[in-house]
This record gives sequence, structure tokens and C-alpha cells, in this order.
Amino acid sequence: MGWAIALHGGAGDIPLDLPPERREPREAALRQCLDIGVAALKAKRAPLDVVELVVRELENCPHFNAGRGSVLTSQGTVEMEACIMDNTKKCGAVSGLTNVMNAISLARLVMEKTPHIYLAFEGAEAFAREQGVETMDQSHFITLENIERLKQAKESNRVQVDYTQPILKETIVADGESQVGTVGCVAVDVHGNLAAATSTGGLVNKMVGRIGDTPIIGAGTYANSFCAVSATGKGEAIIRATVARDVAALMEYKGLSLQEAAAYVVEKCTSKGTTGLVAVSCTGEITMQFNTTGMFRACATEDGHSEIAIWPSLSS
Ligand code: ASP
Repeated sequence: MGWAIALHGGAGDIPLDLPPERREPREAALRQCLDIGVAALKAKRAPLDVVELVVRELENCPHFNAGRGSVLTSQGTVEMEACIMDNTKKCGAVSGLTNVMNAISLARLVMEKTPHIYLAFEGAEAFAREQGVETMDQSHFITLENIERLKQAKESNRVQVDYTQPILKETIVADGESQVGTVGCVAVDVHGNLAAATSTGGLVNKMVGRIGDTPIIGAGTYANSFCAVSATGKGEAIIRATVARDVAALMEYKGLSLQEAAAYVVEKCTSKGTTGLVAVSCTGEITMQFNTTGMFRACATEDGHSEIAIWPSLSS
């Protein structure tokens, strides 16, 4: 088997007539990040390094909802979160970051430099300072597009305060544009080593302090010796369904293939319009599935298959 890599830039209700000026820069960013990941795998970098590298690039791109480009809380602030994990079940996660350039790298430092798995808010930022990671003023992360998104979300009261309601109606598409999304990457090398990384700004108009699926091990991000998974979509739905862990569990306990396991979780365990994921298995299989209108995604394998897509295609 060869190496394989898949990445996403968020799933949601992406209109089929998305104008070229909104589609093309995102496709270009996906292509560039895929190239970076492929080059790193070809250079025999460890999957953990590869997913971190790719997610850092995606975080630095203002077209996606992570790092620079993160969507805003109801108070107009950013609260970024991220998670990284590998097949040995080493993992690290962070939440509530307001000024760290690359949340994914801080998650990796939590994994490697602390006895813990998950740091949040002031504690996470104090750790960031201690580690000397790059920080920026909050204004760096707040794009004009996201100020407008928050305004529109507030005007139409799109994030429900009552979380017992059946669905966080349209929160991902709060701006009516819907093409912003969490970012994630999964990779496997020729030895079957796997890693997953996910990073996000969360949901538009989310409550201050809200934590989504992205940093939660087994919900938005998971890896073990069978597969690596990065999910995107409506965090509350993904947490309830333990999406990423269920894919791995179906492989481990039921003997399903990666494709079968992911299809089962996305089609049967989560409601339509809530969930997307990219995943790779230890044998180099790739799957990119979603029950939303679309998902910004890209993948490549050592045997020469490569794909960049937004809406459903044969390989979805
Ligand atoms: N899953 C993320 C969250 O709920 C949002 C996204 O995937 O776009 O925080």
C-alpha cells in the first residue's frame, strides 16, 4: 500500500451556483494545501507532521473558518479550537484561543509537552505564551466578511439559545453564503502510520465559551491503528453521534471497511444537513463523505489518484 491524504475546508449548505469569485480562491487553497501535504508525504515526513503542516496552511488562509478567517462569537470575538491525534492514540486539543496564530500547533504542544490532553481558554493561552508560540492581536483573525456574517446572523437570530431545539438552524450558513468551514486533514504513510488534525473558529454567532466537536476526541477528530478521521458540520450533532470514533469502532468491532463505516455513520447516525468527514485507513483507503449539500475537500494517493471537489461526485 502507498501513502494517502485527504483534507477538508468545511461541510455545509453550499449553493450549487456559488459564484466563481467565492469558489475559485477556495479551490486554489485546497489545491495548494494538498500539494504541500503530498510533497511532505513524498519526503517521508511523519503523518503527524503532514497533517499539522497542512492544517497550519489552511488556518493561515482567510477563506476558511479556522485561524485567520475564524467566524465570530455573539460578542464579536474569536474563540478558536483545534485537535490532533495519531494512531498510537497520542492526542492534544485546545479551545477558547483568541490570539494564537496556529491553534493546531498549540494542540500538538499540549500533546507533546504536557501530561494532559486538552487545555482551554486562559490556561491554554498561558501555555501558548510559555511555549513562545506566535500570537497576533485579535484584529488579525477578524475578517470583514466575518463581521458581516455575524451581523446577518444576529439580525436573523440564527443561533438558537435553546439547545434543546431539534437543530441549530442554519448556523453554518448563517450568512446565507455557507462557504466558510472548519478545516481538517488526515494522512497515512506507507507503514500504516496515521494522523488526524482539525481546526475551527466554530459557529457564527456562537455563545462565548461554546465548545464544538472539533477539539473533542472521538467527535470531530479521532485516530487509532485502523483509521484517522476529521469531521466538519454542526458540532452539537457531531458530538452526540461521536462521529469520528464511531467510524473507527465500526471498523474495529464490526470489521467494516473505511468506506462502509463512514457511510453508515454519515447516513444512519447523523441527521441530514449536519455532517461531513474525511478519513484514511491504515491500508491507504480514503473516504470523503457528507450529508450536507457539499464539502470543500481534496485528496491524493501514492498511486496517482487526486481529486478536488465541493459537491457530490462519484468518489463521495
Ligand atoms: N464543526 C464545527 C463546529 O461546530 C463547525 C464546522 O465544521 O464548520 O464548531
